[in-house]
Amino acid sequence: MINIVKVEGRSAPLIFCDWCGGTIAEASHGNCLWLTTNDGRPVTTAMKDCQGRPVAGPLLFVHKDCDRAWQRANDRGACSASEDLDVFLFYLGHNLKVDWKDAEGRARLGDML
Ligand SMILES: [Zn+2]
Repeated sequence: MINIVKVEGRSAPLIFCDWCGGTIAEASHGNCLWLTTNDGRPVTTAMKDCQGRPVAGPLLFVHKDCDRAWQRANDRGACSASEDLDVFLFYLGHNLKVDWKDAEGRARLGDML
């Protein structure tokens, strides 16, 4: 889950592992998971997975070390897909047409980091 937390008196966006609850401190340590239907399409919140089970949300974030544990505990291996978190964030930024240089220039470092 993505949440805003107070860090040293400042609000900071952080990603927490949906398996262990810990902070994913570096993008290279995380994966993004999503559930899929029988034909591999992403599942949306109101849908059920390929075995007809309801899902909590369309995206999950986990530490790479927690990925298999989450898959085993939820028995969703055949009904899910994942991407390295850093690659997922790059795709997301691309699809949102993020101008990284402009965003970096407008970000007030220290306010939200
Ligand atoms: Zn974890």
